[in-house]
Amino acid sequence: MQCKLLVVDDQPGIRALLCALFQDKGFETTEASNGHLALRIAKTQPPDIVLLDMKIPGMDGLQILRQLRHIVPQARVIMMTAYGELTILREAMRLGAIASVTKPFDIFELLDIVQTHVVQTECV
Ligand SMILES: [Mg+2]
Repeated sequence: MQCKLLVVDDQPGIRALLCALFQDKGFETTEASNGHLALRIAKTQPPDIVLLDMKIPGMDGLQILRQLRHIVPQARVIMMTAYGELTILREAMRLGAIASVTKPFDIFELLDIVQTHVVQTECV
């Protein structure tokens, strides 16, 4: 079964980059520019892995995370944050995020984190 990866980020360039990168690695990717779209996709095409931006206009990363945990509790959520927002990150981990990367992130580091967690899902 192909791993489903959802990219949630308000920046089109980041979404395009990450979708291309993970498609190349054999993932089925979906993308959302905001929380409402992300939650709709989570309901209709439940992802195994979610790459979730912390700073998104409207519903922010933490609010999206809270709802994702209800809709797809099995999904592994990795937060993408712009600064060392430690307090917010700690809250994200408490809510069930499994890892985080700081922007600008190293693509290979992110790939490594995702592949490590994919091993623990049933989509390999
Ligand atoms: Mg953002």
